[in-house]
Amino acid sequence: MLERIRTIVEKIHPSLIEIRRHFHRYPELSAKEYKTATYIAGILSSNGLKVREGVGKTGVVAELPGKGIDNRILAIRTDMDALPILEQTDLEYASRYSGVMHACGHDIHATVGVGTAIVLSQLDDEFPGKIRFLFQPAEEILKGALWMIEDKVVENVTAIIGVHVYPSIVAGTIGIRYGSLTAAADFLDIEIIGKTADSGSPHESVDAVLVASQIILAIQQAIRQINDPLKPVVVTIGTIEGGKGGNFVADRVKLSGTVRSLYPVTRAAIPEKLERVIRQICQIYGAEYEFDYRLGVPSVRNNQELTNLLETSSREALGDSQVQIIPDPSLGGEDFAHYLDYSPGTMFRLGVGYRDRKNYPLHHPKFEVNEEAIAAGVIALAHTAYNFWKL
Ligand SMILES: [Zn+2]
Ligand SMILES: [Zn+2]
Repeated sequence: MLERIRTIVEKIHPSLIEIRRHFHRYPELSAKEYKTATYIAGILSSNGLKVREGVGKTGVVAELPGKGIDNRILAIRTDMDALPILEQTDLEYASRYSGVMHACGHDIHATVGVGTAIVLSQLDDEFPGKIRFLFQPAEEILKGALWMIEDKVVENVTAIIGVHVYPSIVAGTIGIRYGSLTAAADFLDIEIIGKTADSGSPHESVDAVLVASQIILAIQQAIRQINDPLKPVVVTIGTIEGGKGGNFVADRVKLSGTVRSLYPVTRAAIPEKLERVIRQICQIYGAEYEFDYRLGVPSVRNNQELTNLLETSSREALGDSQVQIIPDPSLGGEDFAHYLDYSPGTMFRLGVGYRDRKNYPLHHPKFEVNEEAIAAGVIALAHTAYNFWKL
């Protein structure tokens, strides 16, 4: 089977490069992936897959029926949106849309998804059950997965696999992570309501700027006591806004921030503990507050058995030297996590780094990928999909 997979990949490789460069040239922002979706749907229908467009707003779902003797369904999810970034590479196929760029490698993900679908479509009579390909929109705004789920793409799915590129792993290599891969990312808004007065009469005021400063510091200092340091929680207050002029005591200040965590237990406990800190600081100064805490994405927690399947299959397909075990999770957020509320799954990192030159990080205007990654990604995924039915 591996030989057959490799032969097909070799044959379609030039067109995969072309497809990827097309995505890169014409990037589309989250929830606006209209042309990208139509392009993907066109390629997949012409390869005989059953395709549905407009799923989860601008997503695409394609299915291979298999032999129909196993009622399990394997889902493979790739995303396809770009970022509001002005590309600063000298690539011949750099973005033609000023201020929009595939700087997170979702062009590679979509290509690997398309490539895997083409390969498996030519081997479909080998599979006992269905394979469902999810081309998800709007990952960058952490909404696309939920939209896809609302449109029932997870119905009857037994297991799901996802992929994300990683510039610090060399192209051709796969990164495997057991346990949590990414962090939960939640959002908070705090409004401090004080009482204004002339700056010459501070005793008649409740200084919202002062209270806000105390709260920011208190949160950072309290974390070590309200949370187990072995289960990290990172709070970032990213914006602060308030006051009417240098001559007045401010009566209102708004703060907004993100909270990242790796464990469901700490995640659940944090909002109340943060509010306690805010409430008590406000009480000291006689200020009022409003506290709004919104759950964003959970942590991506890779399933042991599926991660093992992916590791073993990647080792067989690419060789031991092309597979790395990733020792630590990242504190980035990834909306693949939402699918894992419905079925077990695993997400791997696809190396896209160059060996001999600087690799810029994800979301950087000079971010570039080594396209050798595409074949490795398709071969690893296709072989994993083949081995899945033996579980
Ligand atoms: Zn991104
Ligand atoms: Zn991304």
